[in-house]
Amino acid sequence: MKGIRPLVAGNWKMNGLGASLGELSSLLERLNRDPVATDIMVCPPATLLSLAREVLMGSAVALGAQDCHPLPSGAHTGDLSAEMLADAGAEAIIVGHSERRADHGETDALVNAKAAAAHRAGLTAIICIGETEAERRGGATLDVVGRQLAGSVPPSAAAANIVIAYEPVWAIGTGLTPSADDVGQVHGFIRAGLKQRLGEAEGSDVRILYGGSVKPANASEFLSVAEVNGALVGGASLKASDFYGILSTYAETNA
Ligand code: PEP
Repeated sequence: MKGIRPLVAGNWKMNGLGASLGELSSLLERLNRDPVATDIMVCPPATLLSLAREVLMGSAVALGAQDCHPLPSGAHTGDLSAEMLADAGAEAIIVGHSERRADHGETDALVNAKAAAAHRAGLTAIICIGETEAERRGGATLDVVGRQLAGSVPPSAAAANIVIAYEPVWAIGTGLTPSADDVGQVHGFIRAGLKQRLGEAEGSDVRILYGGSVKPANASEFLSVAEVNGALVGGASLKASDFYGILSTYAETNA
């Protein structure tokens, strides 16, 4: 059994209206009936944070947000600071997701500043890294992941306030997945990098999640790989039944 308590986090991306909160209620009902031995988090769009906080109050499901501005406040129309997200109930913020790196040209330096902003607000930074299809085909996976890890993890990082999500860009939302061996190789590489960066003890305790087309049918294949400490789940986190199907990989009886 692994020493690190796993985390399965759902990234709703730009999906979800008020009516979607019913999925959270359904998830809580299912978890009450059949508890699981993993930490659980849901990251809805910012518009739903306050409402989701009400639904999740007192439950085992934590609330996270998606992205933040590096600064605490100021003239940045449309942006949200880490402090605002904390105020709305978030305990963590996803930063450096490949969709933001691609859609908004986010660099490692900006991701680093956003992760530091999450820490400034007392939140956990879920830092996403991962190679594109072309980079994988070119044999550059470990170079890219190593560079993103070195550049995106801020000086304020510690085992308790960061989570690394390894998400091959080509596996996100596509139904394509790397082999379990490939995931194990990259996670082992990330673990070694974290130990080098944070020291043996801290680096050993950081959670490293796999993300990219995780579904109930393939979850156990990835979640049983060495150095995989949970999953970041996009599409399959939108429906309570699918998300629970992934969470149930950590059924209490298997813990
Ligand atoms: C994600 O967006 O972080 C993700 C992993 O998406 P999906 O599970 O839909 O591939």
